[in-house]
Parts: sequence; C-alpha cells; structure tokens
Amino acid sequence: MLNLFKKKEQKDPVCGMAADEKFISKYGEKFCSENCVKKYEEQNQIAGEEHSKKSSGCCG
Ligand SMILES: [Zn+2]
Repeated sequence: MLNLFKKKEQKDPVCGMAADEKFISKYGEKFCSENCVKKYEEQNQIAGEEHSKKSSGCCG
C-alpha cells in the first residue's frame, strides 16, 4: 500500500483516466475532454447552468 504516500491523483470521474495538466477543471473534478464534461453534466443533471435561463413562452 505504498500508494498511501503518493500524491493524490485526480481522475476523470466519467472515463476514469488519470488527470494531467491538460485536463479541464470543472465542478471540482478533472475531465479529459469536453465530451466527458457533458457526460458528467448529464449524469449529475447540471445541464449548463450558464444557459439555464430558457424562455419558455411564459409571461414570467
Ligand atoms: Zn474522460
């Protein structure tokens, strides 16, 4: 169990790839690609907070 002393590596929570400096940091996780970010958003129902304001046709 030497891994206990190793620096904690972050992994892409979607595909499980070990993160490196090129990974995308988002939601406190690391992602290998935008594709995995999207999958993560879908899995966690994040669905693009920046674009969450949809005009639904309501007088709102
Ligand atoms: Zn990935």
